[in-house]
Amino acid sequence: MTSIPSNLQAVRDRIRAAARACGRAPEEVALLAVSKTWPAEAVREAAAAGQRAFGENYVQEGCAKAEALADLGLEWHFIGPLQSNKTRLVAQHFHWVHSIDRLKVAERLSAQRDAHLPPLNACIQVNVSGEESKSGVAPQEAVALARAVAALPRLRLRGLMCIPEPTEDAALLAARFGVLRTLQARLAAEGLALDTLSMGMSHDLEAAIAAGATIVRVGTAIFGARRQA
Ligand SMILES: *Cc1c(COP(=O)(O)O)cnc(C)c1O
Repeated sequence: MTSIPSNLQAVRDRIRAAARACGRAPEEVALLAVSKTWPAEAVREAAAAGQRAFGENYVQEGCAKAEALADLGLEWHFIGPLQSNKTRLVAQHFHWVHSIDRLKVAERLSAQRDAHLPPLNACIQVNVSGEESKSGVAPQEAVALARAVAALPRLRLRGLMCIPEPTEDAALLAARFGVLRTLQARLAAEGLALDTLSMGMSHDLEAAIAAGATIVRVGTAIFGARRQA
């Protein structure tokens, strides 16, 4: 038996404890509630419990929820793999996109972002685990991509995102998250200051916060286990 408000509170408590444990202010870490596969009513319930930012992986599903819940004024983040033929819907309906891993997609999002909307907040997804199956740009290509994305007029480059492969090895996980932080420092040294590290999910948010996460993306711990992956 899960209750969204009590799960949310438990996740907030975990974030606060993890931030304090490494000497960070809990307010530095924003919670993105990942609502993929859950109906609009579940999002409404989380919103009633004070959650404002929601993450979706599938374009049509996310747009449908954003439209159904337009009365709530929520903030929508696109976090899934993005094909270039779906960019227009994302540019029109979302406030953030976390999964940019090639320039073509970023250029289309910028070109398709309506002039009356604020620039689309963007993160570059970096493949920190080096697995061929995972999406994300290779770390050695991330700096060049970041520079190019930062130059696009209707995107606002905010930071970097990663999804490390699942592992029980705490040192390895810390190293994976550390790749993002190192890249952020390198970009800052080149004059490209980014305020966002989007990393950490239900099972590893503590490690991500210790490594500098500013947005943790949490689904299962809030809404329960998804029926399909
Ligand atoms: C599903 C998903 C999450 C949330 O994962 P949980 O393990 O359910 O917390 C976070 N980020 C991305 C990109 C996802 O696809």
